[in-house]
Amino acid sequence: MIALLLSCLLLQIIPIPAEYTPAQGVCTRDKICVKLNKCAFKRTVAALEPFQQQEAYRLTVKPGRIVIEALTPEGEFRARKSLEQMRLEGTPLPCCTITDWPRFKHRGLMLDESRSFKGVEFIKKQIDAMALLKLNVLHLHLDDSAGWRIQIDSYPDLTAKTAWRIGWDYFAWEKGGYKFSTQGSPEATGGCYSKAELKEIVEYAAQRYITVIPEIEMPGHSMEVGYAYPEVLCTTSSGLSCRGAWDLCPGSEETFTLLEGVLTEVMDIFPSPFIHIGGDEATMTTWHDCPKCRARMAREGYTDVKQLQGYLIRRIEDFVRRHGRRIIGWDEILETGVSPDAVIQSWRGTAGGVNASKAGREVVMSPNTHCYYNYYQDLIRKEPAACGELVSLRFTYGYEPVADGMDPALVRGLQANLWCEYIPTPEHAEYMLYPRLFALAETAWSPAGRKEYKAFRKRARRLLDSFRALGYKTFDMDNESDLARSGMQRFPPEGVPIIVDDE
Ligand SMILES: [Zn+2]
Repeated sequence: MIALLLSCLLLQIIPIPAEYTPAQGVCTRDKICVKLNKCAFKRTVAALEPFQQQEAYRLTVKPGRIVIEALTPEGEFRARKSLEQMRLEGTPLPCCTITDWPRFKHRGLMLDESRSFKGVEFIKKQIDAMALLKLNVLHLHLDDSAGWRIQIDSYPDLTAKTAWRIGWDYFAWEKGGYKFSTQGSPEATGGCYSKAELKEIVEYAAQRYITVIPEIEMPGHSMEVGYAYPEVLCTTSSGLSCRGAWDLCPGSEETFTLLEGVLTEVMDIFPSPFIHIGGDEATMTTWHDCPKCRARMAREGYTDVKQLQGYLIRRIEDFVRRHGRRIIGWDEILETGVSPDAVIQSWRGTAGGVNASKAGREVVMSPNTHCYYNYYQDLIRKEPAACGELVSLRFTYGYEPVADGMDPALVRGLQANLWCEYIPTPEHAEYMLYPRLFALAETAWSPAGRKEYKAFRKRARRLLDSFRALGYKTFDMDNESDLARSGMQRFPPEGVPIIVDDE
C-alpha cells in the first residue's frame, strides 16, 4: 500500500517531463484514446517553438482510460514512450497529467563502428534504448583509420581491403603494426555494413523518430582510405607515395573524385538533412612537401598548409549543399573557414561551441569534458581500461550546454560520443552508456529548471534495473565509489575531501 502510494507521488521516468501533476487513484483499464491536432492542445502549446510543438504531448492517466494529445504522430510516439517507461515499474499506472516537450532539437548519440564493428542487432538495440529516452539523433562514425565499415560500390576496395584487420581489438591491431586483412582469412576480425543493412537501420530508426547521421571522416583519420586507394595520398618531393599517411592529399583531384563518389552513395542511403564530414585532427604533415599540395597552395595563393584543410572542407561542403544537405563537422572546421550553413560540433571542451556561436553558427555540444562516455565513469582501479578524465554520472548530469557567451537559439542540442578504441564488445559499449545516457537524455529534453540530481539518481537506479531486465549490460550504481558519487570531475590529489550528498 505504501509502495503504491509512493508510486502515485513519484514519477519514475527519464527524462523528467516539463510538467507533471499527480492525481488520485490508479488506472485500471488499458484503454488508450489518441487525440491528434485538436484545438485544445494547439492552444496549450501555442507559445512553444515549432520544433517543440512537433514533439509535444499531453498524457492524462485516469482510472478508466488513458488520453494522449499531440499535434503530430511524433508527439504521440513520445507520449507512448513515457507510458512504456511508467509500465516498466510493474505497478498499476498512477493517475496523473503530464504535459511535455523537448528543450533541444538535437539529442544524440554517436557510435564508433570503425574502431570496433558491432553490427545491426547491436545498433537496433541501442535505437530502442534511445527511443525510450526520447533521443532523436544517431550519429554513426562509419570510417576511420581502423577500418571502413560501409559498402561503396564505386570504391569496393574500401571495404574489401580495410574492413577486416589482424588483431581482435584496436590495441592488438595497433601493436601488430596496423595490418589489414580480408574477409574469410583465419586471422581476420571486423566487418562492414551492406547498403541493405544500413537502409534497414535507417528505417528502423525512422519508425522511432530517430534520424541517422552518417559520418565520413576527412581529411585526417583516413589511413585506411590511402591503404585501399593510394592515389589519394600525398607524394614526397621526390615522387614517392606517402604510404601509411594519416591524412588525404588535398592537392590531388583524385581525392575529391573519391570523396564525392563516396558521399553520393552515402546520401543515397541516408535521407538525413545532415551529413557529418569529420574534419578533426588532420596532422597535415605530408602536405608541406607534396608537389600536388604545393601546386594547390600556389594556385590559391595560400601561405599556410592549414588553408588546405579549409579548401577541402569548403569544397566538400559546397558539394553536399548542391545535393540539398547540410554538413556537420568537428570544431576544427571553424578555424579554417567554413560557410554559415555548416553546423559545428564542439568536442575539444566547450570553446569550439562558444566560438561557433559567436561566429553565428549553429552548434551541437559534445565536449570531451562531459559527453565522452568512453572516459572513466568511476575509479581507474575498479573500471575496465578507458581514456581521459572521470566523467561520472553526477558530473555528466551537471552539464549545461548553453555556456556563457553562447546564443541559446544557435545551440541545436547535445550529444554523447562513444569512441571505441577501448571498447571492443557490444556488452562493454552498453556498460559505458548506461546509466550515463540517461543523464544526457534528461539534459537534452527536460527544462533546465526541472533537473535535480538526487531525484534523478533515484529514477536512474530504477530505470537501470529495468534496462538490465530488458537485456542491457549496465554499470552497477550500487557499487559506485564515493568519488564518482561526489560529482568531482578530476581524480583529486590525496587528502582532498570527498563529499557524498546524493541521497
Ligand atoms: Zn598532397
